[in-house]
Amino acid sequence: MSTIRVTVWNEFVHERTNPEVARIYPDGIHEVLARALRQQEGFEVRTATLGEPDHGLTDEVLRQTDVLTWWGHAAHADVRDDVVARVHARVLEGMGLIVLHSGHWSKLFKRILGTSCALCWREAGERERVWVVDPGHPIAAGIDRCIEIEQSEMYGEPFGIPTPDDIVFLSWFQGGEVFRGGCTWRRGSGRIFYFSPGHETYPIYHHPQIQRVIANGVRWAVPQGRPYDTPRKTPIEEAREPIVFRAPSVHDSRGNLAH
Ligand code: ZN
Repeated sequence: MSTIRVTVWNEFVHERTNPEVARIYPDGIHEVLARALRQQEGFEVRTATLGEPDHGLTDEVLRQTDVLTWWGHAAHADVRDDVVARVHARVLEGMGLIVLHSGHWSKLFKRILGTSCALCWREAGERERVWVVDPGHPIAAGIDRCIEIEQSEMYGEPFGIPTPDDIVFLSWFQGGEVFRGGCTWRRGSGRIFYFSPGHETYPIYHHPQIQRVIANGVRWAVPQGRPYDTPRKTPIEEAREPIVFRAPSVHDSRGNLAH
């Protein structure tokens, strides 16, 4: 099996400013995610954070990334637009993207999906059950009927996303709401998976089944095929068999507009 090169991106703000978050994620959310992914056979994992030059997402890093995971919350506005454009272009070329939790509100996710990506939320430490609604989907592999999360932040519908290609998980919350918390899309040649559990004041990324879903998502999002061609006029010499032009035409025999 060939190596899957993963870059785990985190804004890394709450962990350094909020003692409660620092207690749960002393080295940052990215390190917990990276540690879990490094347990997977064939995964080569690096991390990148907002504070690094180019947010750690240089052309070179992105070229060497098969799948990027994205966690952000407090500093969406600080992510540079040119870096967002660069990541977006790589997704269209085929790089996989896993957007986690509050990443739903990132510039990147909103730009790629083109809709509001808004939702409703409540922070009450309530129970969440993440139901598998597509048990045959590779992202649900190894997950039983649902994942129980004892304390979670509620994310509720309506979720302002384009209709997903697949809904893999549907979350239920103690307060009664439901949420399409595990969805996929394809944009260009890239595969995108959004997975909602993961609020920073709960130890959700330490949960083995949550880690399993994210690893499954990475495997699923690995680049497939090749990027789309840039627009070009196809020369007549490339025709697979001779084409007989029917005159009169507004085009000459080379396909150019006749004078
Ligand atoms: Zn949150």
